This record gives sequence, structure tokens and C-alpha cells, in this order.
Amino acid sequence: MPLDDFPRYPLLFGPSPVHPLERLSDHLGGARVWAKREDCNSGLAFGGNKTRKLEYLVADALARGADTLVTIGGVQSNHTRQVAAAAAKAGLKAVLVQESWVDWPDPVNDKVGNILLSRIMGADVRLVQAGFGIGFKESWQQALDDVRAAGGTPYAIPAGASDHPLGGLGFAGWAEEVRRQEEELGVFFDTIVVCSVTGSTQAGMIAGFAGQDRPRRVLGIDASAKPAETRAQVEKIARATAELVGLGRDLRDDEITLLEGWAGDVYGVPVPSTVDAIRLTGRLEGVILDPVYEGKSMAGLVDLVRSGEIPRDSTVLYAHLGGQPALNAYSGVFR
Ligand SMILES: *Cc1c(COP(=O)(O)O)cnc(C)c1O
Repeated sequence: MPLDDFPRYPLLFGPSPVHPLERLSDHLGGARVWAKREDCNSGLAFGGNKTRKLEYLVADALARGADTLVTIGGVQSNHTRQVAAAAAKAGLKAVLVQESWVDWPDPVNDKVGNILLSRIMGADVRLVQAGFGIGFKESWQQALDDVRAAGGTPYAIPAGASDHPLGGLGFAGWAEEVRRQEEELGVFFDTIVVCSVTGSTQAGMIAGFAGQDRPRRVLGIDASAKPAETRAQVEKIARATAELVGLGRDLRDDEITLLEGWAGDVYGVPVPSTVDAIRLTGRLEGVILDPVYEGKSMAGLVDLVRSGEIPRDSTVLYAHLGGQPALNAYSGVFR
């Protein structure tokens, strides 16, 4: 059915802002680069890309009579923090299973940033020992059982709100939002650069843009350091979302692009190009990126523009997906 017919629980301010990054574009000396700011998309706990996806999942949770959102992520997960905020806004409870996905030695890793915000918002935060993965986990099953045992009705939200039937809808809507903003601004973004890990952000965009008349490239930049898994997940969610919104054709393989080379060896740990990209964007634009996701996708953008792989006559839209609260656990990187 058409995207507009899916129930949506409003969590965003409205369309997220789009603006040029003029000094960064001049510095790179190639394509013109703009940003669309999911980090400023909502008044709920600093927003981010998951807030946009959650508009559809929270509507579904309420329709099903759930009273508790149960989800999973790393200790400094942006996603779990946004679930805590959405739950608070909708009058629901939240149980957050926080696993040790990142071997990051900062002594305040489990105290500041995202996890601090989730605690402030009243979520039941559970720290557990388990490695990085984007699938379903035992600790998460346990959390669901605990809610039921206490007489509650849980609503399960997988990591990143991705591997869920409605996970791609938020960013399918983003594609339509971009098209309208282009009309207002009199620009066309021939290339979109987006960070990809659990996949439904990029997948939703692909499904959304596939229904538009004018083709463009959606370049996913892997930050999972497990690009084969992320690529498979993007493909699966893009195809499922395209079908859900009635695209009426199969997606072609050339519509699904995930580029690797900027994630380093492990998820969640910045490499020199990440830190360079964060400093560059901060110093030239006053725009703040995080060391887990956006610093890596910006490092990709910088290299692709400099090398001319994104041509000089391109107009690029950098999807800023949020994530700055995690910076609090990475102060040592910038000392
Ligand atoms: C979750 C997240 C991503 C990755 O989005 P996926 O939908 O998981 O691929 C990128 N940037 C930030 C800041 C995030 O929180």
C-alpha cells in the first residue's frame, strides 16, 4: 500500500533541514556538498535516524496494545536512546538491552552520552556481556519474557529498528521529503552519501528513490566492518520495503551500492580517516560528527569527492544521521 497510508506516530519536527556545506565543498575542490540533518530532526533526546524509523514502529506498537518497547544495542547505542525517547513521548515503558559490542576502554563508556540520556528518560537499562551482531539475541529474548512475566505486553524492536517489516518505511519517506525539498530549493542531488550498519536507513532510501522519475546514486558507506552482512541486510530490507510500498517492480542490483574501506577493522572504533573527517567538518563547518558512524561516512565522502569518483559537476547530499551523544565516551581520541 502507498507509504502515506501506513499509520505514523509523529516524533519529528517535520522535514529535516537541508543546507549547503560551502566551506567543505570549496576545500575539497570538487562536487558541491549539502547536508540533510537527521541530527536536528526532532526535539526528542537529540533525534537521529532511528527516530524517523520509529514513527512507524511506535504507531504499530500502540495499535497492537503494547505497553513496553524492548530493544537491543551496544552500550553507546544511539538507537536504544531514541527508543527510550520515543517510549517516553508515547507514554510507553522501555527495556534496553545494552551489549558490549565495542571493545572501547574509556572508563565512562557505560556512564555518559547515550546511556546517560536513556537513564534520565526512565528506561530500564540492562548491561549484558555479548559481542557485536545485528540479529536476535538471547538476552533480548529474556527481556521480552521478563516483560510478559510481569504482566506487560512487549513490542520487540530489533537492533537499529532494521530487521522489522516496517523498518524501511521511515527512510522511504525521507526520499519523498528530499524530492519536495529539491523542488523548493531548485537543486537536484544526483548522489546521496549515507552511513550503513544495520541497513534500513539506506534500504529505505533505495526503495523510496526507486519510485521517482529521475535516477540518482545512493552510496552506502559501511561502518559495520562486516560489509557482506550489511550488504545482505540492505538488499533484503530494500526489496521488502519496495514491495511493501507497492513499487511495482523488482529493484535492480545496480540500485544497491555499499562501499567499504572506511570502517577500519572493527565496528565502533575510529580510524585516522574518521578522526580527520570529524576535525575537518568541525573546523570548516561547525558541524559535529561522531566516531562510530558519521565520521566514517564523511571520510568516505571526502575521498570520493577528492578522487573524482564523485564527479566535479555532482551535487551531493550527505545524510547526517545523528549520533553525537556517543562522542562523550570518545574524549580520549581528541585529547
Ligand atoms: C544507526 C546509525 C547509523 C546506521 O544506520 P542503519 O540504519 O543502522 O544502517 C548511522 N549513523 C548513526 C548516527 C546511527 O545512529
